[in-house]
This record gives sequence, C-alpha cells and structure tokens, in this order.
Amino acid sequence: MRRSSNLLKVLLCLLNGSSSAFLIPNIRLRAGLGLKADIGEGGSSSADDPTRPDYEIEPLPIRIGHGYDIHRLSPIQTAGQPLIIAGVEITHEPQKYLDRTGEYTGTPNTIYPTILGCEAHSDGDVVYHSLVDSIFGALTLPDIGQVFKDTDPRWRGVNSQQFMEYAEEVMTRYGYVIGNIDVTLILERPKVAGFKPEMKENIVRLLKTTPGKVNVKARTHEGVDSTGELRAVECHVVLTLVR
Ligand SMILES: [Zn+2]
Repeated sequence: MRRSSNLLKVLLCLLNGSSSAFLIPNIRLRAGLGLKADIGEGGSSSADDPTRPDYEIEPLPIRIGHGYDIHRLSPIQTAGQPLIIAGVEITHEPQKYLDRTGEYTGTPNTIYPTILGCEAHSDGDVVYHSLVDSIFGALTLPDIGQVFKDTDPRWRGVNSQQFMEYAEEVMTRYGYVIGNIDVTLILERPKVAGFKPEMKENIVRLLKTTPGKVNVKARTHEGVDSTGELRAVECHVVLTLVR
C-alpha cells in the first residue's frame, strides 16, 4: 500500500507539473470515482464539511487514534432493536438483567431474565462508532456526532456500516491506510467469543485492510457498575494510520 501511495504521489506530481506534490498531504480521492483533482490547495476547506478543516493535516508517517463509545442495553421490547456489534447481530438466550426500578419485575433491584437490545438513535454499534471516532481522531477531525449530524439528511436512518465506509473514504482522501487496529469490547453478557471472527472480517473488509492488522478482544466488566449489570456495552479502539 505504501508503494502504491508513493506511486500515486508521483503521478499526481507529474499531472500537476510540480515537485511540491511530494510534500502536500491533501491528495483527495473519492471511493468509486477514481482519481480526482484537488491537490493540496490549502483553501479547500468547506464550512459545511467538518472533514475538510481550514488547516493542513500534515503528512506524518504514522498517526495514532483512540475511540470510545458506550450504549445503554435494555430488554429488547424497550430497546426496539437487537444488539449489533461490529455489524454482527448478537443472538442469545435470555440474560440476567438487573431491573433497578422494578419496571419489569414489579420489585426494584431484582433480576429480570430477558433478551437484550441496544438503545440508540442509530443501530448503536459501539465497535463501528469507536473505529470511526479513532480514524477521525487520528486525522484531527471532529468526532462522529459532529461529522454525522442527525440534522443532515445524508445520515438520517443509515446504518453504522455507512459511517465506516465514509471514514474509510476520508482516510483515503488524506493519503492514509490502516496501520493496525486494537479493539477492546467490554460486555458482561451475552458471551460474544463465537462472534469475534465475523466481527473481525467485517472490519477488515470495510476498512480495506488485512486480518494481520486487526485485533478484536472482548472482556467482561467483572460484574461492577452499569456495564457489569448488563445495562451498558462499551468499546475502546486504538489504531494507527500510515502512509
Ligand atoms: Zn455509538
């Protein structure tokens, strides 16, 4: 990938008639449209596009990003949608949900056996959201909520796979590919070990990388706090972007 990236810069340089393209990071590509112009103009920012800031995103050889996300879990009749993690629907048997208010059992702080769902405006995919935030973070761009505003009709009702596809497009636009990714999913129950290979496949495919660069770990919260009581699911991502 690095070789092809350098080759691209050479080609762009020749097209541009200038050697300065070697130093300019704003090589803009759009998925599906092939090579596009728009090389390092500096003034290419757009007030209505938060992925195009009015400063240069320098072509550092490596950029590090961190992403974190949390969503509320609740009985599926309340959540209204299943638990989806890294694009995988986590099918499961009824779990021991702590009914703190007695809403489901009639008695506060008792266990309510239930299938769990994820409460969110989107599909609540904590892994995809953390990955997108870590890519934007590495590039010094605003967070996922600012890029995908719920007031913007382009993003209304889309699933989180489309956020991933757009983050990959932005990463490519700035000349980067995935260096490596380390995902830590924190979920007390249901158990997700059997779903991890499919999660990894989805991440590899959407971010156009390889299995040797993507790690998906999952752990519990040792029964403590909201996540330990099956009332939340969390995720941390650390990744590097390279040129
Ligand atoms: Zn989220």
